[in-house]
Amino acid sequence: MSLDANCLFCKIIEGDIPANIVYRNDNVVAFRDINPQAPTHVVIVPTVHVENAAGLAKMSSVITAALILAADEIAKSEGLDGYRTVFNTGASVGQSVFHAHLHLLGGRYFAWPPG
Ligand code: 5GP
Ligand code: ZN
Repeated sequence: MSLDANCLFCKIIEGDIPANIVYRNDNVVAFRDINPQAPTHVVIVPTVHVENAAGLAKMSSVITAALILAADEIAKSEGLDGYRTVFNTGASVGQSVFHAHLHLLGGRYFAWPPG
């Protein structure tokens, strides 16, 4: 799988930058967000460098599904009875790291519609 030496999440995947990793398999790595927005806030990333969720889906439906399945498994291990998953795509909606990632959030009330 190809990684980008200049990418923060690729460095976490490689172990070059420390992170609190909660789940890992061949397709995904999941770690606690450094700036959590909920009691559980885990970032789930594919082990391939690609800019956003649609790019990942074009590359591999299997890895895209693996992100969602990892989120469900982590939510169970965190004891969550419900959770929110978010892909930010584009700086205008808050994407700040351009390596596709799924946010898993839970452990508090979430308003709908989201802000
Ligand atoms: P985005 O804003 O791109 O959707 O999400 C990126 C997330 O990565 C943010 O929630 C941010 O707090 C988190 N993040 C940024 N840098 C680091 C880091 O070095 N370590 C960890 N664990 N999370 C990070
Ligand atoms: Zn990357």
